[in-house]
Amino acid sequence: MKYQTYEEIIKNNREWASEKLSIEPSYFETLSRGQKPPFLFIGCSDSRMALDTITKTEPGELFIHRNIANQISLTDMNLLSVLEYAIGHLKVKHIIVCGHYCCGGVTAALEGNAEGLVESWLMPIRELYRKNKKELDEIEGLKKRSDKLSEMNVILQVKNLCKTSVMRKVFKGKDYPKIHAWVIDIYIGRIKELKIPVSEFKERELLPKDYKY
Ligand SMILES: [Zn+2]
Repeated sequence: MKYQTYEEIIKNNREWASEKLSIEPSYFETLSRGQKPPFLFIGCSDSRMALDTITKTEPGELFIHRNIANQISLTDMNLLSVLEYAIGHLKVKHIIVCGHYCCGGVTAALEGNAEGLVESWLMPIRELYRKNKKELDEIEGLKKRSDKLSEMNVILQVKNLCKTSVMRKVFKGKDYPKIHAWVIDIYIGRIKELKIPVSEFKERELLPKDYKY
């Protein structure tokens, strides 16, 4: 992997800005007018999650919140304010909860070897593992086991998303964003769309009865 020095990334930025201007002279003027992104993306902080690159999106298209192992915590003011702003002001049409394979956070939770603040942060995933220990332990190999736990974690975080006061409120109306569960399959660079258990979530009043998948 190519290592970029600090000076190089500043130089890259200057080149990028010049390229953009040469293609579209009003590019930055348009960008500076404001944002209306259709997507809220909640994902992992992992450096390999280069979202604009892997989705071929441009500045202004993804509103983003990231943390270690894409956690949605009901007491996280940072996440909750992002969510409230994205729905209330930006009126995003889609909320994407996204994990990935080879996630260091998920693997640490699985192995139980995280330390300090990260250990506390990853506790919900450790609990998820304990809850599904039998199924996960039957999977051969740490990587595969961790990847399965990554998928389970995304669904758990979607469940948490549905429990937030912001979503409870918006679900009472007719016009709410669609929720998507993704993992990035880092082995092949592709997005894998996970099935959200919509019927079960409806039964448990996590999703509105008229929610269409
Ligand atoms: Zn990760």
